[in-house]
Amino acid sequence: MFNKVLIANRGEIALRILRACKEMGIPTVAVHSTADANAMHVRLADQSVCIGPPASRDSYLNVHQIIAACEVTGADAIHPGYGFLSENAKFAEILEAHNITFIGPSSAHISMMGDKIVAKQTAKELGIPIVPGSDGAVTELDDARRIANDIGYPVIIKAASGGGGRGMKVVNNDDEMTTALQTTRTEAGAAFGDDSVYIEKYLATPRHIEVQVMGDGKGRGVHLGERDCSLQRRHQKVLEEANSPALTVEQRERIGGICAKAIGDMGYSGAGTIEFLYENGEFYFIEMNTRLQVEHPVTEMITRIDLVNEQLNVAMGNGMTFEQKDVRFQGHAIECRINAENARTFVPSPGEITYYHPPGGLGVRVDSGVFSGYRVPPYYDSLIGKLIVVGRTRTECLNRLRRALDEFVVDGIDTTLPLFQDLVRNEDVIAGDYDIHWLEKYLANKTD
Ligand code: ADP
Repeated sequence: MFNKVLIANRGEIALRILRACKEMGIPTVAVHSTADANAMHVRLADQSVCIGPPASRDSYLNVHQIIAACEVTGADAIHPGYGFLSENAKFAEILEAHNITFIGPSSAHISMMGDKIVAKQTAKELGIPIVPGSDGAVTELDDARRIANDIGYPVIIKAASGGGGRGMKVVNNDDEMTTALQTTRTEAGAAFGDDSVYIEKYLATPRHIEVQVMGDGKGRGVHLGERDCSLQRRHQKVLEEANSPALTVEQRERIGGICAKAIGDMGYSGAGTIEFLYENGEFYFIEMNTRLQVEHPVTEMITRIDLVNEQLNVAMGNGMTFEQKDVRFQGHAIECRINAENARTFVPSPGEITYYHPPGGLGVRVDSGVFSGYRVPPYYDSLIGKLIVVGRTRTECLNRLRRALDEFVVDGIDTTLPLFQDLVRNEDVIAGDYDIHWLEKYLANKTD
């Protein structure tokens, strides 16, 4: 058992981790920037330490301060949440050297998957289906054109170290390739400190389907089914659901089985997500995330497995509390990411929440750290909460989601709630008939 867990994050995910620790009887330490001194995760933790000024690089990314906070409080493990230091292999390595447990996979697995070229190569070796494309990094225009012609235009150039939907460019022909290769390399170098790029086939109308996996670090891997995250804006997920309305039970078992085996073979430890594009019945690996994802609750709602509890158990060396045969998918869950943004322009809307009233009732879960009088700081991601709804069927889930959205009140700032109000009444969304471009087109055509 850990002595004390330090949560190196903020907002709803810090609270989410804190809740799992409390249920397991593990004391918690919150760290926070000066801008977050009054945040809910700080109030609910057993102890809290201010680690710096508002800017993330001075606080939530400040490794020295975070390690000092462990030393001062006696925390022997760190949960990084998502974002910030969660996929930073160097951070995991530094913790190993300080005898602090990183609640996540080994630094070697993080760096392997952090480089998308290496990740793709590894996936291929593990028997995971990948998107056709270049074998590795591409630097020469002649090579780029040859590869693109071999796989057929359009292609997409992607930064090996890219993330968060950035560092990608679609190329339609040899002419466009002339400037595209150089531009993406320069941009990748500037944004990620690594100018390696690779080429893959651009899939025209895929869905984004990802498989939740867990490994015990000793050769056992399991999967917890998939999430469909096709509703995206600027390559960022907006609404997620489990299971995917597009898959059959056989497809789920097949792709889940491939992923679980790969995780076991890798000796992977902890939670991870293997992301695919899915088109015409085929899966194409795009990347693996070596952390807990924002959208993990939809999986929890249909499996009733607490993923953070499992992460903690694995990190303590106890393995998972369940086996593959115990994983049963019951019902349907949908998550809406509620951002402090205008629902039409998506301009961030920080400021004071003058009144907050979350929905409740059967099958409704709200993961959020905000409250009436809370001031959304302008320094961080605009996600202020997640509404997750579960029903016995997809229809029941949608009916419940509609009424939950109607109950949700956030006054004083703009939020993306009105967007979801519209989406849950849209016939394509109701039918589950959408691909990764659907939302962008819908937003472009929206007139009211
Ligand atoms: P990131 O790490 O930035 O999230 P991903 O590789 O996961 O990058 O891709 C993010 C999104 O970009 C995908 O969900 C999809 O919408 C789009 N995308 C990525 N690769 C392709 C591709 N080969 N064809 C079409 N769209 C793609």
